[in-house]
Amino acid sequence: MTIRTRFAPSPTGYLHVGGARTALFSWLYARKHGGQFILRIEDTDLERSTAESVNAILEGMTWLGLEYDEGPFYQTHRFDRYKEVIAQLLEQGDAYYCYCSKEELEELREQQRANKEKPRYDGRCRHLQAPKEGVQPVIRFKNPTGGSVIVNDVVRGNVEFQNSELDDLIIARPDGTPTYNLTVVVDDLDMGLTHVIRGDDHLNNSPRQINIFKALGAEVPIFAHLPMILGDDGARLSKRHGAVSVMSYRDEGFLPEALLNYLVRLGWSHGDQEIFSIDEMVSLFDITDVNKSASSFNTDKLLWLNQHYIKTSSPEHIAHHLSWHMGTLDIDPTQGPSLVEVVKLQQERAKTLVEMASNSQFFYKEVTEYDEKAAKKNLKQASAEILEEMYQRLAGLAEWKAEPIHAHIKECSVAREIGMGKVAQPIRVAITGNTISPPLDVTLELLGSERALSAIRAAVAWIKDRAED
Ligand code: GLU
Repeated sequence: MTIRTRFAPSPTGYLHVGGARTALFSWLYARKHGGQFILRIEDTDLERSTAESVNAILEGMTWLGLEYDEGPFYQTHRFDRYKEVIAQLLEQGDAYYCYCSKEELEELREQQRANKEKPRYDGRCRHLQAPKEGVQPVIRFKNPTGGSVIVNDVVRGNVEFQNSELDDLIIARPDGTPTYNLTVVVDDLDMGLTHVIRGDDHLNNSPRQINIFKALGAEVPIFAHLPMILGDDGARLSKRHGAVSVMSYRDEGFLPEALLNYLVRLGWSHGDQEIFSIDEMVSLFDITDVNKSASSFNTDKLLWLNQHYIKTSSPEHIAHHLSWHMGTLDIDPTQGPSLVEVVKLQQERAKTLVEMASNSQFFYKEVTEYDEKAAKKNLKQASAEILEEMYQRLAGLAEWKAEPIHAHIKECSVAREIGMGKVAQPIRVAITGNTISPPLDVTLELLGSERALSAIRAAVAWIKDRAED
């Protein structure tokens, strides 16, 4: 059997971390078994589905690198097929028209509540012979009345539902459009899915869907309902807890592999291992190892993973992602030193790519402003002289390399009987506008003589300007 899994988001918002975790587990399971992973956009709710949301989902999947083998399929392209199946169910006697009005249903519910019964449709239209004039009916599925349905769930074990608890589900609205539980079954069936991996908020839909599968004479797929993700306050993870959209993690400077590594541990573990490369995830993951209990989102751990991946990934890979962040700062990283070389200098010193981009701007953009505190401390009147001396020394360098640059900083400090920091720090502020940079000699080398010298000159002028005030 070829394993076929799917991710089936409704495009009513962005791709959030819960959805991404579902997508990841489905993707991993398919990859692990050499199977196929399918993307299906469940856009039948025409009022709530938007094109922006479809794009956001596709963008999120691409950024995470969760490639799909088939799709994206759109349910709105398959209405004819759903109609066909609804007609088949009507024909077989497994579905029927229901002419009950809103008021009638409300009255029924009131009565049931008064009798302390669970409100549910009582199937009164099952035996209706003649259509009611002037009423556009819905179509309901004729759920079995006796016995029970067992959802054989890989994560939760067997979960039993009594058919008496399930009422006759609406499968087509008055305008003939199909509803969620029907379209999911038709698609899971037509797309030959062997495993349905999804959030446990869908567990209650599964017995209904299983009954529809059976009515269609189809084999029921294997289910795996993933445990909920909670925020750090124990409530279901939501916008309230900060970034939840996958793309907002990109915006905040996370690498996709850090987020994936983080997500794989939400509900799954392998001993006490925390770091998993994508290849390791694929080989070690198994859906049967997913646990039942909810897991909590922990931003500190995500940051820790991000820092790990920033430190250990190839500079080329990081440069690829960093380049996007440089773009958001209006910087074209092809206009200046090689971004890969910049990454090599910065890899050890950033927790996020936002931080790295911000601290690397000076390689591409002239410093036009100095941080107030940094300037106050390091661009004093006395610093002008040091900067001027260093300008002369560096301007005379035959070879613009870290080693001779370092030697001159040292010589200058020895001659003046001051610490090297007293020489280095004013230069650092001159070239970065701040006091944060990788070691100064290599930074100057990478920055290039022209930019470096012009920044030192500008700092001297700036100090002199202040003296005249
Ligand atoms: N479209 C559903 C959702 O976004 C998922 C349906 C499913 O996975 O069966 O919640």
